[in-house]
Amino acid sequence: MRLRIAAVQLSPVIGQVEENARRAARILDKVFSSSRVKSPDLIILPELAITGYNFQSRAHIIPYLETIGGGRSYQLGRELSTKYQCHTLLGYPERYPINESGAFKIYNSAVLISPTGSVIYNYRKSFLYETDEQWGCEESPDGFQSFDLNINGRRLKSTIGICMDLNPYKFKAPFDEYEFATFCYENDVDLVLVPTAWLNSKWSEDWTDTDVKEYSKLYSEEEPVEVNVDPAQNDILMTPDTDEQFRRGSPDKKTGRYWVLRMNPLYTNPHPGKRKLVVICNRSGMEDKMMYAGTTSIMRFDGGPSHTSEATGEMFIDFNMYGSMGQGNEGVLVRDVDT
Ligand code: GLN
Repeated sequence: MRLRIAAVQLSPVIGQVEENARRAARILDKVFSSSRVKSPDLIILPELAITGYNFQSRAHIIPYLETIGGGRSYQLGRELSTKYQCHTLLGYPERYPINESGAFKIYNSAVLISPTGSVIYNYRKSFLYETDEQWGCEESPDGFQSFDLNINGRRLKSTIGICMDLNPYKFKAPFDEYEFATFCYENDVDLVLVPTAWLNSKWSEDWTDTDVKEYSKLYSEEEPVEVNVDPAQNDILMTPDTDEQFRRGSPDKKTGRYWVLRMNPLYTNPHPGKRKLVVICNRSGMEDKMMYAGTTSIMRFDGGPSHTSEATGEMFIDFNMYGSMGQGNEGVLVRDVDT
């Protein structure tokens, strides 16, 4: 089955929810407003897509929390889903009431909305990053999940992961446990959707004020919205690094390739005849001292055996890249992909 995916890469300004939501809608309009262009089957937006991510405390994020299906993020998802008659997935900070007296938990969630605007699935992040803990987020008690998603008459076994879910648990588990991808492999998942707020490989906790200033300057200029619809660009992540200079319009290859790496065992364990589609939708921009990686990417693991060349030590894996966006811009990646 052919699926048209539209992944929106956004650089939300923290707390400017309304403006961020409008920008996301405008970006999609750039491609799909003409009735001659086929609408997407699935739209995906980043982790905490329109609220921003780097909240400093529980008190800081409280005004932006939403119950499932009850806030501005959901409204945006419903607006997009009904407008384009498609499914929409987007991240938001969830307020989860635990009793009648108003106590609640906070989760880092992503809600999947149907073409008629109803909530199909709500996933809560299982592996937390320290920023999540800073704003009082709790781990999902349910762990990774899979569910059936019916799109265009076909049932796709699907899984959602949010950012850190792709990493070793708390960065402490052995790298080669590949917890999330192993779950996807063992549960025979066809479609893996991953909204993220992933940091740039050039960013470091040790950045000085001078580093922050230097990069902030690069972001003060406006970058054109990237409308990435050209399959000729598919391989950009895998092309050799010839030029190490930071360009906002080029992908953060290190980060993109790391995502591919973390999808093991989807490439070392064969799964003939079962293609597995992975969509990673990341945010971009700077937020306080943090710099995100953009590089929103679509890839598919095709299940043939991998092998390593004895001569060069290079590993060959059976997969396809379907494009990656720039690391420091906003825009949309649109691809038609066979599942
Ligand atoms: N490890 C991820 C990163 O470095 C985690 C960020 C997140 O969970 N938002 O960006």
